[in-house]
Amino acid sequence: MFEIYTPGHNYLTDTLIMWGIVYIALDACDPTKSRVIGLGGRYRIVLEDFDESKFNAKLRDVISDLVNVDQLAGLIKTGKRRGLGKSVISDRLQVGLDNDTKNGVAAAIHEVLDSGLDLKVFAIDHIEKMKEGRLGKGLNLYIPFSGIYGKYLTSEHRYLDKPYNVCSGCILFSAIGFHAVMGIARKGGERIYSILGFDGEATLYDLSRLLRPIWYIKSEEILTRALRNNASLTRLGQVLVMYLEMPRDVREALPWVAWYMIMYSYDVGRTKRISGFQIFDLVPMRNIIERIEEEYDKLPRLIELLIDRGSIDKGGDEVINLLAEIALNRDLYGAFKTLRVLRSVIERIDEKKYGKLKKSLYGTLGASLASGLVKAVS
Ligand SMILES: [Zn+2]
Repeated sequence: MFEIYTPGHNYLTDTLIMWGIVYIALDACDPTKSRVIGLGGRYRIVLEDFDESKFNAKLRDVISDLVNVDQLAGLIKTGKRRGLGKSVISDRLQVGLDNDTKNGVAAAIHEVLDSGLDLKVFAIDHIEKMKEGRLGKGLNLYIPFSGIYGKYLTSEHRYLDKPYNVCSGCILFSAIGFHAVMGIARKGGERIYSILGFDGEATLYDLSRLLRPIWYIKSEEILTRALRNNASLTRLGQVLVMYLEMPRDVREALPWVAWYMIMYSYDVGRTKRISGFQIFDLVPMRNIIERIEEEYDKLPRLIELLIDRGSIDKGGDEVINLLAEIALNRDLYGAFKTLRVLRSVIERIDEKKYGKLKKSLYGTLGASLASGLVKAVS
């Protein structure tokens, strides 16, 4: 048995590191016996029949999916650390990260390739041992991997605007986690990130469903479309879209642990502003959607139609927000209100311009939606 602890930096970084390690470890252990235990934002990873040389081989493979290793070596020789990010080749990292973070990832990878990585440092006292943190040493833990920014209380009445530093292994596994499981919706320079974390225990085999087939592709595509059509979705509405548009077989096969979704926005352009960092408990949403889907199986289709421009013009986004609220509040009045607003949105859609959309939306209405909603809240 080989045991790994995520460091305990914060919910987001630890979740990224957990996914990064799981992604690499899958082929280097017995995934049906190995498991991850989530405990309030920190994870313990227990690997059975662990083969460290296989782990290292997979790690090298994945590193070469993240960066062009030869180009990185060439850039290092020129001595300009600010341009190292040019070697990044992973689509996910290219689309989802700002240039500073890409430089940081490349620098971390260089350090790991240069001096190696000892997995044993991921022990319960990692932060102290590696002298990490706001007053610590190492590489800057950039915002897309941490969600934190600005000034921090370091002692009573004293705020310091200091970077949070971590070791190269923390950056590398965060980047691998980001590459493997981060959902990224886009609108202009803004990125809306979503990632799933959990409390409880699950085997690596069960968790691997979230790695392949990749859960987020359709979700982020639908959310990106909604944003481009100027939908005003609440954060909860966005969570509903991301969750509901996961392939249903993936959703239903998720292990029964207490899942949460971490969602936040960041402008990767010049402003580099983070906004709306939130952690949502997915348990109530999962339960209620499951109950609705016992009666009515067109919810994802309904969402897709509601984010069409013709629907949004008439308040389709409001219906999504209402649905998301029901999933949280389980209130019967909310269920009736949702049905009423939905019907009124459909009735007001321009027949001439959006005839096909209108017809499809009528097609998703039906007694089973009403009974599914009512059953789910009662
Ligand atoms: Zn570290």
